[in-house]
Amino acid sequence: MNPVNQLVVKILPVLPRSLVSLVSRRYSAGEGLEDAMEMSRQLNAEKACVTMDVLGENITKLEDADAAKNACLDVLDAINKNEIEGNISIKLTQLGLKLDKSFCIENVREIVDRAKSYDSFVRIVMEDSTCTDDTIEICLLMRDYYEQVGTVIQAYLKRSEEDVLMLAGRNVNLRICKGIYQESEKIAYKDPDRIRHNFIQLVKILMKQSVYVAIATHDPQLVNHSLSLIEAGELPTSAYEFQMLLGVAKTLRNELILKGHKLRVYVPFGRHWYAYSVRRLKENPQIAGYILKNLFRR
Ligand SMILES: Cc1cc2nc3c(=O)[nH]c(=O)nc-3n(C[C@H](O)[C@H](O)[C@H](O)COP(=O)(O)OP(=O)(O)OC[C@H]3O[C@@H](n4cnc5c(N)ncnc54)[C@H](O)[C@@H]3O)c2cc1C
Repeated sequence: MNPVNQLVVKILPVLPRSLVSLVSRRYSAGEGLEDAMEMSRQLNAEKACVTMDVLGENITKLEDADAAKNACLDVLDAINKNEIEGNISIKLTQLGLKLDKSFCIENVREIVDRAKSYDSFVRIVMEDSTCTDDTIEICLLMRDYYEQVGTVIQAYLKRSEEDVLMLAGRNVNLRICKGIYQESEKIAYKDPDRIRHNFIQLVKILMKQSVYVAIATHDPQLVNHSLSLIEAGELPTSAYEFQMLLGVAKTLRNELILKGHKLRVYVPFGRHWYAYSVRRLKENPQIAGYILKNLFRR
C-alpha cells in the first residue's frame, strides 16, 4: 500500500467528518429515504436494479432495533410506491440478534411479512463469523414461510462450501462475496488467490444445481471467470445476476449492463453513513489519497 494512503487510513478517525464526507458521498446515497429513492431511480434509469440497505449494525438498545425494523418497512413501502426495480438487504445485528435472538426473529418476520405483501425479495446480509449459524438458521426459518428470502455466503470462510451445498439443496437464492470482516486464519482463507478459487467453486456449485446466484464482486478476474461459466453453461439471464457496491467499479458495471447481464447495485443510506464510508475507504486506500488532496486544497 502507498505509505501516504496508509497514513491517511490511520488518521481517518481524527479527520473532520465534513472532509471524509466529501469523498465518502460516492459510497452512500445520503441520509434520508428520499435520497435513496432518488439514487435508485437514477440507477433504474441506467438499467441497473438495486438492493437498499438501511445503514447501521450491532445496535446496543432494543429500541434501536425497533427503529431499524421500522426503517426497513418504510423502505419496502417506498420501493413499492415508487415502482423501483429493487429489493432490500437487512442485517440481523441491526435488528437485535446480539441482544435477543427471538426479538430479532420477530423483527425479521415482520419485514418478511411486508415484503410478502409486495411479492418482494429479502436478502439477509452475512456479518462476521459469530453470526453465520444464526443467519443461516433464520434464513431457513423465514423460507418455510415465504420463499423469496435469501442470504449471503463469504468465499473467505473455510466452511462455506459445505454451507453452499446444504443451502443449494434447499434452493436458497445466495449472494456470493469474498467477505469483509477480519477473521482468524483458523476459519478463514487469507490468500487472495485461495479466496478467488473458493468464490468460483461456490458459484459453480450453484450454477450446476440451477440455484439462483448473485455474483457480488468488482474483481475483474472473478467477473470474467463467472462470465465464462455463464457462457459455457448457456445460462439464461434469469439464473444469475451480478452485484456491485454504489460508487465502485462503475465502468465494469456499465459493461455488464451493456452486454445484457442483470446488474444490481447495493444502495446504502441513513444516518450511519460515516462508519460505513470509513470501512469502504479502508478497503480501498487509494481513495483515501483524495481526502489528503482535499485537505490541502482547503
Ligand atoms: C453487492 C455486495 C454485497 C456485499 N455483501 C456482503 C455481505 O453480506 N457480507 C460481507 O462480508 N461482505 C459483503 N460484501 C463485500 C465483499 O465481501 C467484499 O469485501 C467487497 O466486495 C470487495 O471485494 P471484491 O470482490 O470486489 O474484490 P477486491 O479485490 O476487494 O476488489 C476488486 C477491485 O474492485 C475495486 N474496489 C473494491 N472495493 C472498492 C472500494 N471500496 N472503492 C473503490 N474501489 C473498490 C478495486 O479496483 C479493487 O481492485 C458485499 C459486496 C457487494 C458488492
